[in-house]
Amino acid sequence: MRANNLLKDIVIASHNSGKVSEIKSLLKPLGYNIISAKKLKINEPFENGLTFGENSLIKSKNAALKSKLPAIADDSGLCISSLNNEPGIYSARWAGKKKDFNIAMEKIEKKMEKNNYFNKSSRKAFFCCALSIYFPNNVCRVFEGKIYGHVQFPPKGKNGFGYDPIFVPKGYKKTFGEMNFNYKERISHRAIAFKKLSNFLYKIKN
Ligand code: IMP
Repeated sequence: MRANNLLKDIVIASHNSGKVSEIKSLLKPLGYNIISAKKLKINEPFENGLTFGENSLIKSKNAALKSKLPAIADDSGLCISSLNNEPGIYSARWAGKKKDFNIAMEKIEKKMEKNNYFNKSSRKAFFCCALSIYFPNNVCRVFEGKIYGHVQFPPKGKNGFGYDPIFVPKGYKKTFGEMNFNYKERISHRAIAFKKLSNFLYKIKN
């Protein structure tokens, strides 16, 4: 595929500032000029996909076709096994119109109280990230990353965003919210998906 002549500017199809700064800092070493969809006044499309991958492609396609530039989108969320993988693809919607994740985390805690959440196996959870790249010529790819761990209450830590204060990755004692940004950025679901995306970008550039 010869898409390399298109690859100078890349649009990040997200209005979530936490995600934009994580993706920006991951992409920076690759030397692209990064433009946010917000800056280009590109709307956020309605996400009616049934998977993270489908929703990610809805966003990257919308931004690529409107900007006529390659666009990268992230669709991600927290899946809790005892809640049938909820909030999952509805992770952002659980926070309501005000995008208040304290409310979303409280909702999870209340739901889990009914599920005997003191039991460690009922607190098993994973973060999933589907990163997609869509080119204006309709070529596209999706790369997925997951990180497993458990949720804990009360929320701890002020770093990161979204559900970071309740998620403890496997092998660690700290929540993502307590870890420093650079460390989380190296081990997260987004970092795993990003490694796959950057291998792809490297291949089409060379
Ligand atoms: P969407 O992908 O824009 O639909 O939103 C996914 C939601 O999942 C975000 O708004 C966050 O609340 C949550 N989420 C995704 N990735 C992370 C993460 O790395 N940390 C904390 N929350 C996350």
